[in-house]
Amino acid sequence: MNTHSIEIISRDGAPGYLSIDLGALRQNYRSLCARTAPVPVAAVVKANAYGLDVARVAPVLRDAGCRDFFVAHVGEAHRLRPYVDGARIFVLNGLQPGAEDGCADAGIVPVLNSLEQAQNWMKTATTRRRRLPAVLQVDTGMSRLGLPPEELSALTADGTLRDRLDLLFLMSHLASGDEFENAQNADQLKAMRQASALVPDVPVCFANSGGIFLGPDFHAAMARSGIALYGGAPTDATANPMKPVVRLDVRVIQTRTVPAGARVGYGGTHVTAAETRLATIAAGYADGLPRSLSHTGAVYFDGVRLPIVGRVSMDSMTVDIGALPPGALALGSLVEVIGPHQTLEAIAADAGTIAYEILTSLGDRYHREYR
Ligand SMILES: *Cc1c(COP(=O)(O)O)cnc(C)c1O
Repeated sequence: MNTHSIEIISRDGAPGYLSIDLGALRQNYRSLCARTAPVPVAAVVKANAYGLDVARVAPVLRDAGCRDFFVAHVGEAHRLRPYVDGARIFVLNGLQPGAEDGCADAGIVPVLNSLEQAQNWMKTATTRRRRLPAVLQVDTGMSRLGLPPEELSALTADGTLRDRLDLLFLMSHLASGDEFENAQNADQLKAMRQASALVPDVPVCFANSGGIFLGPDFHAAMARSGIALYGGAPTDATANPMKPVVRLDVRVIQTRTVPAGARVGYGGTHVTAAETRLATIAAGYADGLPRSLSHTGAVYFDGVRLPIVGRVSMDSMTVDIGALPPGALALGSLVEVIGPHQTLEAIAADAGTIAYEILTSLGDRYHREYR
């Protein structure tokens, strides 16, 4: 997050308010832990804690008892370190050549995704004359990251790996963990068990947020949760059990009444069928409200749906306020973009995307309030 620009956009002049409920974050962490107990839950705080600011989020999770944090990149691990004193930090995307020494110096645990990465980390261990901690990822069917099972057998066949490395976990990732009925989950569980049989003394780390709701078979020795901590729906098996963490309200910057036949927005793609009352609000695609919301999404005021008309602009968009009494909205009024009437999932669905993408795109021009 760019704190400089947040200072420039003072509270009073802010185009919108992004409020982040750290109490709800803490409750979400605790409720996931209760679900997996006695298995611990690690926090996934990659991408600046899904856009919510790792400097604010990580200490709350640490206070709530979290001792294991996952990020995507080594750079994120270095940035996280001061906020999670004493905790373990794991790097999901693995080790880039040349990053080994920095990782070893900072006590960061790489997730090794290939033979090459494992060999480079073993070399570093040899040079330093000590065993280095590592997580080994095996690909159980997502074809994204991790060793194919055959390579895992080859790697673990002799004792060299175990001489050099302290294998903290064997890890894999579910491709469809959020889909309760998806048969891929059982397929991946089976592949994970076969892989685990090759290194039976190494604990398994498997479930993401969705996997936590697939049941204890998926919890293994440690779960890794991201989206559920931040209030996103982890599973399609039930209504979202998590507490909402994010609320977004955006300012009205102009209202107007246009006649029938008026064109609205870039390209003039919306033409009013009748006289229409409109409001322009101060957030657009540069603020993480995708252009794909054009003509289809909505915002809310007093629980009333206000449809987006025309195309979403970079810094603003226009909504139809005809459903509100005249004068209900004026310069400076706030409309709800994410909140009790419009969940993250709902706006994501209107935009043709997922809650993860909405969260990680919310820009740094809003005034942020951490409660
Ligand atoms: C992002 C990520 C997670 C967290 O997933 P959620 O669905 O947000 O809980 C866990 N494991 C891996 C490997 C990931 O890339």
